[in-house]
Amino acid sequence: MAAKKSKKKTKPTVPPTTTRSSKTSRSSRPPEFYSARTLAPPPPKAAPSNERFAWARSLIRDVPDFPKPGILFKDITTLLAVPRAFHMVLDGIAERFIGEHVDAVVGVEARGFIFGGALAARLNASFVPARKPGKLPAAADRVAYITEYSTAELEMHLGAIREGARVIVVDDVLATGGTARAAAELVQRQGGDVVAFAFVVELSFIGGRAKLAPIPVESIITY
Ligand code: AMP
Repeated sequence: MAAKKSKKKTKPTVPPTTTRSSKTSRSSRPPEFYSARTLAPPPPKAAPSNERFAWARSLIRDVPDFPKPGILFKDITTLLAVPRAFHMVLDGIAERFIGEHVDAVVGVEARGFIFGGALAARLNASFVPARKPGKLPAAADRVAYITEYSTAELEMHLGAIREGARVIVVDDVLATGGTARAAAELVQRQGGDVVAFAFVVELSFIGGRAKLAPIPVESIITY
């Protein structure tokens, strides 16, 4: 009869735990221990916005003579139809506010709602709509303003903005800047601090940016 093999298990050997040298100083730690804000090297310089977002830009449709003769309408619905492009544009705006505290995002009716709502969720901020007259159900404040092709009014619910809140105003297109400035005025009347304006498209040849100065303007795609 063959001798029974011993079933005794051999204990797996555990590699010795690395002990941290008492000499390890802050400066000799590997880079992954650095606090991103204070000690990490600066990020590589980003490509100019139009270059980086050339593909998203190519998805914006030009519609001549809308809503009236002489206006070249920048139609963003063709960009929204492509999920990756929508994400890229939102991320492009959101990353400009990394490290900044934003309490609220104001979106201007109607296309500003599309980007403003999604941006507020990305920034963990409140979303506040600035609406055309007569749409808001509760008591609201109102301002009148002039756009590239019309005169208009905007309203905001009273009490929508907390005193001292840091706010960004978002819309799809910056043309003359009248709409964004009206939205900012509604914020400021409630004691909010408009820290920036953000747009997907800036029609730089119209010069709206100057109208919004000295508040910083962020835009993703410039014509
Ligand atoms: P403005 O107040 O002149 O800066 O105009 C901005 C507002 O009008 C935004 O809500 C835009 O959606 C709209 N807008 C003005 N011009 C255009 C344009 N050429 N193409 C698309 N939207 C425009």
